[in-house]
Amino acid sequence: MGYWRKYPDKAASRRSLCPRCHGRELDSRCYSYLLGLYLGDGHIATTHREGVYRLEIACADAWPGLIDEAAEAVAKVMPDHKVGRRKITGCTNVGVYSKHLPCLFPQHGPGRKHDRKIELAGWQQKIVEECSEEFVRGLIHSDGCRIINRVRRQTKAGDRWHEYPRYDFSNASLDIQGLFTDALDRLGIAWTQMNKRNLSVAKREAVARLDEFVGQKY
Ligand SMILES: [Zn+2]
Repeated sequence: MGYWRKYPDKAASRRSLCPRCHGRELDSRCYSYLLGLYLGDGHIATTHREGVYRLEIACADAWPGLIDEAAEAVAKVMPDHKVGRRKITGCTNVGVYSKHLPCLFPQHGPGRKHDRKIELAGWQQKIVEECSEEFVRGLIHSDGCRIINRVRRQTKAGDRWHEYPRYDFSNASLDIQGLFTDALDRLGIAWTQMNKRNLSVAKREAVARLDEFVGQKY
């Protein structure tokens, strides 16, 4: 009796594993943030267990708050899974094992992200459009930073230093740069292409807008 009662429950919990295969609910805001982290500093690797993948988000130890936030986002997106932390030099890899990681991150593929086409699936595009702020936050937390630019002005009274906060974003993939600038455009945030790899948000009102939902790394 007990066996038969337990069995369907187990099957039901197994069914709840994947938002793509089994229609399990997905936290869009956390997913959008995590997708930003993944496109910046994440990768999906195969493991020695057939069909099982590992997602790793590389988080710099300089920002312990961001390690926690990455772990929280993974836990919310994959609530049935154990989220692990693996320390390597200067960095902690936040990771999770699952068979369904390629369903959640179809950008998974061989080689480096900037050597292959990175295109969002329709359902991902819908989520990043709904949750553009979270997506930008994830991208900046992985591949960006908020810096203070000090500029010297010569005046009659002598040199004056002015400080301007600025956000920089650096990613070798033109596709990922495009996803970042598309999201900024949706949010009405002005940006500048600095060179092939780097983008910058420097206008006062644009920086103020990013400060509302990104801010300093912590
Ligand atoms: Zn799946």
